[in-house]
Amino acid sequence: MNTTLRRLLQLAWPIRNWMLLAALLGSCTVLSGIGLLTTSAYLISAAALHPSVAALNVAIVGVRFFGIARGTFRYLERLVSHRATFRLLARLRVWFYSALEPLMPARLLEQKDGQQQELRSGDLLRRAVSDIDTLQNFYIRVLAPPLVALIIGILMWIFFGFFGVVFGLIFIAFYIISGIGVPWLAHLLGRRVSREMISTQAELESHLVDSVQGIADLVAFGQEERQARYIQTLNKKMQKLQMTSAYVSGMQGTFTNLLMNLTAWTMLLVAIPYVYRGELNGVFLAVLVLGALASFEGVMPLAASFQQLGGSLEAARRLFEVVDAKPAIKNPSQPSPTPADQALQVEHLNFRYAASEPYVLQDVNFTLPQGKCLMMVGPSGSGKSTLAHLLLRFWDYQEGKITLGGSPLQDYQQDDLYKMVSVVEQDTHLFNTTIRENLLLARKGASEEELIEASKQAQLHDFVQSLPDGYDTQVGEQGLRLSGGERQRVAIARAFLKDSPILLLDEPTVNLDAITERAVLDALKILRQQRTTIMVTHRLAEMEMADEILVLQHGQIVERGTHTSLLQNEGLYWRMWQQQRSKTIASA
Ligand code: ADP
Ligand code: MG
Repeated sequence: MNTTLRRLLQLAWPIRNWMLLAALLGSCTVLSGIGLLTTSAYLISAAALHPSVAALNVAIVGVRFFGIARGTFRYLERLVSHRATFRLLARLRVWFYSALEPLMPARLLEQKDGQQQELRSGDLLRRAVSDIDTLQNFYIRVLAPPLVALIIGILMWIFFGFFGVVFGLIFIAFYIISGIGVPWLAHLLGRRVSREMISTQAELESHLVDSVQGIADLVAFGQEERQARYIQTLNKKMQKLQMTSAYVSGMQGTFTNLLMNLTAWTMLLVAIPYVYRGELNGVFLAVLVLGALASFEGVMPLAASFQQLGGSLEAARRLFEVVDAKPAIKNPSQPSPTPADQALQVEHLNFRYAASEPYVLQDVNFTLPQGKCLMMVGPSGSGKSTLAHLLLRFWDYQEGKITLGGSPLQDYQQDDLYKMVSVVEQDTHLFNTTIRENLLLARKGASEEELIEASKQAQLHDFVQSLPDGYDTQVGEQGLRLSGGERQRVAIARAFLKDSPILLLDEPTVNLDAITERAVLDALKILRQQRTTIMVTHRLAEMEMADEILVLQHGQIVERGTHTSLLQNEGLYWRMWQQQRSKTIASA
């Protein structure tokens, strides 16, 4: 069996009993419909012979009963199947999200064959929301209906068999053709289309999300027309696919109807001679015809469900693809406890993002005792951020060693490592909620005093006080209602709250103007006290604070030392220093 299908069925295992109940209720619904039509047929035929009313009593009660039962069963069946399915979908969303987390960020930014293969945010969004929704069709429309069809088929075969073997055979032959043949045809014709529909729609959505997020840039570069045209092309493709899909479902509806009516006619034609010969009571003639018509309600939904199968499988394949991706890093089976001494040591470190790519870091060595400060400078692209990310173990390095408190990074539980290190990056992501919630991210149970204390130290408190809603001010999507400097100070306040022994600062002021930069640097100065600090910087400010400065170029340490010793060397560091000074003087 197709593995995707098998895994989908496995996911449904916890709701199997509910699904069985739904199938049972579905069968009862169809049987009530059959009962209604056959008893009515019998009632009308028998009444034509003017018997006493008493003789008809049972049939009259039967019509009433089946009429009411049909509606009730249908209602219960829908209730049970939807309830079970929606529960399952809710669980699947959490399941998908938890599978996504360990892939961050390495697997999601991967480059394959020199081509960016990252899962775009629009695409991930689609997988998490729509693809899981698509599975709804699978669980409601694909699982139960075949069971219902099977139950009805067997019961009605026996029922028609009572009137004569030939009637049973006529029924089952047509029933199988429309229950298996037509859906199979629909599946063959619709498979490619529904699969393509899923991927086209995914592409469409990720482009839309991309365009909306980047709309300012698109307009600024006059590219909005091109983007609109591209989206238009995708739209046209989508339209065509939907059209084809509609043709297929129209066709299968027609075929099933045709077969249903053919069965009724064949029954009639075959039964009439039996009545003539006296082998069949004429009263049952209408029962056979209408009973056959009503039985087909059992196979009607099958064609639609088989047509959905392709789409469901494609959606499932896309989900499993993310879920199955191997995390870039693995937690150790026996993690080391958090060390008391947080000295960092890097020995002969070599790293590249992929085997086909050149090394981004080569033979990097340094020791950073607890409480000391290491600064890293160097041109853009020299590997500074990469080194910072390796210290957080976003990726695993190929050669050399990074130890923290004497144990290699790989020996720590990833969560413990994150707890030991606070990070302030170039740009801080804020969630679309209040300032308070954004701060509490760093430490959930922090008290109001702690929150204010941290904000004061980050020089954020006065600003927050000046806002009408204070800490309850909404920051807007991606925190865009705050300025860059304010966002960075939120990040610093977070680091104060988190209060971890190691501090990793990756060009925290690069996007700020000189005056804002000053405020952020002041806040950082307090934060750095008594913490083991690694600071990547583009601005050579307060470099005297550093116990050691590493100058990186093309992934190699080309110079190292303290501020004064490096200036004396008159090397790359000295040139950067001169350059920056002349710029400052020129702008002054
Ligand atoms: P810096 O922070 O010093 O500006 P980075 O560490 O960001 O430099 O980048 C160093 C090199 O690694 C660059 O050549 C960059 O293109 C490459 N690089 C950065 N991130 C990735 C990635 N996720 N996959 C592949 N290459 C990367
Ligand atoms: Mg960088």
